[in-house]
Amino acid sequence: MLYCSGPIEQPSRRMSLNLPKLVADQTLYSWCGLVHAWNGSSATSTSRSLFGSPYTALMHDFPGLLHHLAERTRGQLGEPRDIALQHTLLGYFLPLVHVDQAEGILQRVFAGTMPELKMKLGIAASRIGGHHHLKGCPECFDDDEETHGFAYWHIDDQLPSAMVCRKHRRPLVIAWDPVTPVHRRGWLLPRSGLKRKWIEVPVLGEEQMDRLTTVAEYSARFAMLAPGSLNPRVLARVYQKALHSKGLATAKGSLRLTALIKATRSHFRGIESVPGFESLQAVTGDWPGLAGALARRRPRPGHPLKHLLLICMLFEAWEEFLEAYEDMLSPIDEGTPTSALGPQVSSIETFRCHVIAGSSIRSASNKAGVCTTTGLKWAKQLGLRYTSRAKVFSDDKKNLARIALMAGADAGAVAEQVGVSQITINRMLSSEPDLKESWCIARFYRSRERTRKHFRALIRENPHLTVKALRQIPGNGYMWLYRHDRAWLADNLPSLWLQIGPTNPD
Ligand SMILES: [Zn+2]
Repeated sequence: MLYCSGPIEQPSRRMSLNLPKLVADQTLYSWCGLVHAWNGSSATSTSRSLFGSPYTALMHDFPGLLHHLAERTRGQLGEPRDIALQHTLLGYFLPLVHVDQAEGILQRVFAGTMPELKMKLGIAASRIGGHHHLKGCPECFDDDEETHGFAYWHIDDQLPSAMVCRKHRRPLVIAWDPVTPVHRRGWLLPRSGLKRKWIEVPVLGEEQMDRLTTVAEYSARFAMLAPGSLNPRVLARVYQKALHSKGLATAKGSLRLTALIKATRSHFRGIESVPGFESLQAVTGDWPGLAGALARRRPRPGHPLKHLLLICMLFEAWEEFLEAYEDMLSPIDEGTPTSALGPQVSSIETFRCHVIAGSSIRSASNKAGVCTTTGLKWAKQLGLRYTSRAKVFSDDKKNLARIALMAGADAGAVAEQVGVSQITINRMLSSEPDLKESWCIARFYRSRERTRKHFRALIRENPHLTVKALRQIPGNGYMWLYRHDRAWLADNLPSLWLQIGPTNPD
């Protein structure tokens, strides 16, 4: 295995665990299953070692006891908040929850477990189903094994509205296990663990593949939004405006239901026949009412899947949706009723205070519970001065940075080249020991080449100076070569000069 981070001691239980690295898009559940597979104790004792509780590690969709986990793994997996939002389904459900309630939920799952979570999130009432079957892409599993040495459950594939793999443009397969998750006493992993049947999502043709790929993409983008960043009231207005522009609503906001039903059915034709997807089967009957319910003046939050289907139907691109949402947020939009902006006002104020206090737009947006794009827009509207630190470190940029670092480039220069802060580059070096080692070696060779060249030039330009006199020249490099490259120095000093020595350093 590539990522053995070393054993952790569990003083109270006198056992130590080998911990794999948590891959960026791996579910926490998948990681726990791997810890179990690597260490071989019983499921309950693995869970106790990680969370101090016998079954928490087996919760496959929502987390619990994350402070315990962080403590027991000595922070190797990152912050509890990032684990909850990026490695469990919470990231998918919290953007629609009010920012204060979302924070309350996060604090609960940091400190303990929250049995009523699905009820709080409205999943139980949504009729979409809360089983959240484990899903994955066999080709991604092959790639994982090649890259990481093990296959894992990818978080994007677990989102209730994800049915296809965007990378391989193929249907996901569902790990069907008749035992309900709470009664399982082990892990279902992609290529090991408990028995399961694989059911492939049957995709009916290219057109449907296109639709499902869009739904999967929007779902992943949705799950990346900060908790509380979408206000259902603002969303309702966004939908109404879009429906109106498509001729599906009157100017006063009444929905033309017959036209809407026709458009919706045409957009998602055939998807309702996908077996294993109770979620969509349940929504089918709701479709005519879906847009109406969400676009009402006092809408209920609704299940993210319902919103995602509607957003896919109304917007050609995710950015187009975000723009429409942000336009609706604009405080200078006179057409926006204050009631729609109410819950946003405190967020804007929180945001403003943090920016004034010196936070980056990204960090202030996080604290205000909105996405960075919204934060940037607010900053411009409020005339706030800020330093642009919210720069994205994409995979392409990371690769560019790796190449430059392996060639021994200066960390500051690399940061400038790829457009991120030097702290980001330093973090990258400290998180990738192999890269850091290659970088140090390359830096050494660079320094050596530069110093040799400079020293040779000094000798050439001052053919009559003695070594002693040469070493009086500031920055001559003699001592560096004496310490690190003595053989070369001996070979390159003219033989008639004095024997080399460390005295009188430069
Ligand atoms: Zn795939």
